[in-house]
Amino acid sequence: MGNGPAEYVSFSGFQGRIGFISAVSHKFCDSCNRIRLTAEGYLKLCLQYESGIDLRKLLRSGATDEEVKEAMRQAIWKKPACHNFSDERRDEEVGQKKEHRGMYGIGG
Ligand code: SF4
Repeated sequence: MGNGPAEYVSFSGFQGRIGFISAVSHKFCDSCNRIRLTAEGYLKLCLQYESGIDLRKLLRSGATDEEVKEAMRQAIWKKPACHNFSDERRDEEVGQKKEHRGMYGIGG
């Protein structure tokens, strides 16, 4: 139901449904195929980490469509396997820098 990772519930006697995204307690990273393009042209690979590629810089340097595609392909191979919201010590182990911007700044 729906297009996102939410789990929906409805209650008898009430209209509509409520969606819960329990990203910390019920990780769904193993099925995540999402990447995000920020308003600044940065292709983010995961909400928790800074990892990604500056597509704006690449485009403004005159890269061809094929070069942009290849850069995206290479970046996506580095998509983190999952978040570690509940154990930040793991960030160093997986070699990723934690994202410090809020969701409103990312578009997540
Ligand atoms: S934390 Fe990263 S890998 Fe996990 S669901 Fe969110 S974007 Fe996908």
